[in-house]
Amino acid sequence: MHLADVIRLRTVPQAGLLMALTQRCPLSCAHCSTDSSPTAPQHSADPLRRLVSTFTAAAHPELIFMSGGEPLLRPDLVAELATAARAAGTRSALLSGMFFARRSMPAAIRRAVSTLDHFSASLDVFHEREVARSDALRALAAVLDLVPAVSLHVTSSDEEYLAEVLAQVRRRFGDRVPVLVARVRPTGRATSFVADPTEVVDPGPCEFANWPLVDYDGTVYACSRQSLVRRHRPGHLVLGHAARDSWAALSAAAQAQPVLRSVRALGALETARRSGAPACDGVCQTCVALPADAAVPERVADLSRQLVGGLRPQQLARRWGAGEHSGLVELGWVR
Ligand code: SF4
Repeated sequence: MHLADVIRLRTVPQAGLLMALTQRCPLSCAHCSTDSSPTAPQHSADPLRRLVSTFTAAAHPELIFMSGGEPLLRPDLVAELATAARAAGTRSALLSGMFFARRSMPAAIRRAVSTLDHFSASLDVFHEREVARSDALRALAAVLDLVPAVSLHVTSSDEEYLAEVLAQVRRRFGDRVPVLVARVRPTGRATSFVADPTEVVDPGPCEFANWPLVDYDGTVYACSRQSLVRRHRPGHLVLGHAARDSWAALSAAAQAQPVLRSVRALGALETARRSGAPACDGVCQTCVALPADAAVPERVADLSRQLVGGLRPQQLARRWGAGEHSGLVELGWVR
């Protein structure tokens, strides 16, 4: 499953399910959006197993996307969830910080990686302080032999760094490894050195409210800005819990909530304007302050698909901050 196909699915409500397998990570990257560390708490995996067991041939997401912390700290769980999901028709992807690249790949990680349809690796100056780039790229070459599709997520606002690393990746892998370039955002540990933008630009429909997210403790949110929704738990962004709700029920809840539908279709700022709710300093700040019973326009359910669903993957990547590097998400893509 190519990176471009993963990105295209991001515009489709409930086409994917994000699963945060653990907050633990052996690395301590300075920009970590989830504030992960080697000693962070790790919850029972039972709610995750249970939720995937509710996938059926008729009701399942197209894709589960596993992250953390570092999901490959639980390699047996990765393999178990990917295998169970596949039985219902769901494919699987994972994002890793490549901690295992410092040594030869452990057998359990090799087994887990082999069950995936897509493997993404993070690479940036912060990860490079923890894992040498040469080690990460060498391990990625080994992963390419195990998984049908691989990609890199490179997070940087430094064009000089991007030019150098992207050229190196192209020299080594050609078109086999597409790249999603992103900017460091003021979330998690990065809030200590990245400021919120001073000017609030309305991005319109929010595609980050399309895929539910299972947080470490099993709470299922409608938004993938994990640290933010966990802190505020606004009514329209809490869908349920993996320990008690089925995929069909969570999916129905995500379709039924009028404020959530409006955020997906029109965006948080327009939803606040139309419902008379106050606008706050930022887009997401306005969103989490929306009352769950705000009076929002009718018939907005599928608008977001019309507005952003027709965009090419590289247009979506540009919308998310990839700039002139947005075309790299389609490297080697056969439509
Ligand atoms: S606008 Fe709302 S749903 Fe979208 S990312 Fe921000 S908090 Fe999440």
